[in-house]
Amino acid sequence: MIQPIQPRTVSPGALRLMAAFIGSVCINVQFYRFVRPPHSEIAPTGAEWVGVRGRMRFIGTLFFFLAVASGPASASPDACPGNPDALGTSRVLTISPSEFSQIGSMQYKQTLPLNDHEVVITFDDGPLPPYTNIILDTLASQCVKATYFLVGQMAHAYPSVVRRIYNEGHTIGTHSQDHPLAFQRLSLQRVEYEVDDGIGSVDSAIGDAKAVAPFFRIPGLGRSKTADDFLASQSLVTWSADVVADDWFRHISAQTIVQRALQRLEAKGRGILLLHDIHPATAMALPTLLKELKAHGFHVVQVVPAGDRPKSVPELMASPATDRGAWPTVLTSAHSGDNAMTTRRYHRIKRVDASKRRSAAVFSDAIPRRSKRGI
Ligand SMILES: [Zn+2]
Repeated sequence: MIQPIQPRTVSPGALRLMAAFIGSVCINVQFYRFVRPPHSEIAPTGAEWVGVRGRMRFIGTLFFFLAVASGPASASPDACPGNPDALGTSRVLTISPSEFSQIGSMQYKQTLPLNDHEVVITFDDGPLPPYTNIILDTLASQCVKATYFLVGQMAHAYPSVVRRIYNEGHTIGTHSQDHPLAFQRLSLQRVEYEVDDGIGSVDSAIGDAKAVAPFFRIPGLGRSKTADDFLASQSLVTWSADVVADDWFRHISAQTIVQRALQRLEAKGRGILLLHDIHPATAMALPTLLKELKAHGFHVVQVVPAGDRPKSVPELMASPATDRGAWPTVLTSAHSGDNAMTTRRYHRIKRVDASKRRSAAVFSDAIPRRSKRGI
């Protein structure tokens, strides 16, 4: 089970109950004027009062239950601790692979059933300190829950961060073992390896396979029929996205990431937002992005898989690697090449359309490879 969700600052449930109470009082007064006994110009008899009061109680009770039943199930009266202006997480959406095999309007017909101005925030390619930790700090400060698609190699390298992500209530899916280039060109054998070993590495890092959601995002969104069919056969939900913010572009600024995310979300009205928790610009953009999402009336939805999950997993001591390069030192050193892993994890744009429309671009990124088992 996930940790309790921190809702919006002003509880919609409390407002609903208050409105229902006032409404039921008003309606009961009107109701009494209609149903009052014919002798009501004079004081009603005792028997008449019993009948009128009974009907009034019935109507009031009916409105009370209607008010409670009509609200979102996840609404909670608790505010975000220490931050009354937090964006928060407005509700939890539970999905199963049988209902949602492929989601994300960028590539598939189906997407999540979100209401107007609802957004699902997702992060790919991590974990990678210090950026993942900075992003987790920002999310915690706003009581926002996200969905992570972790790379097997990265989870293997930073298991303590994987467990932190889970224990802070976020959803964890997977994103292949090695994040290969051109996933769309992989053989079935290689697809199986990337998917299965990716899940296995994240399972090992987190220490409990039940903690890992059956959610998979194809690296670089490089879908193919081979990959789609295999993922469906494994009862995995294949996630694409509805909106990207181009945060994998080299030298993109935090300000531009915020602008593109907001503009594209406003254009769609709702959606799954794809970000990456391995980039300094994304970490820098997130505080402003969350603030602007709230200012623009967006509400965050967390997506979880159907079924039980552990409430938490045992924490691990951070490895020395996770302490390397404290923020913000790495922000500059990453660009100057001091952080070899970060500098090698760049994304490239491959045009798939002779018209060179950016919207038709397929992106992929490169990460350090380890030896494959003869694949
Ligand atoms: Zn990726």
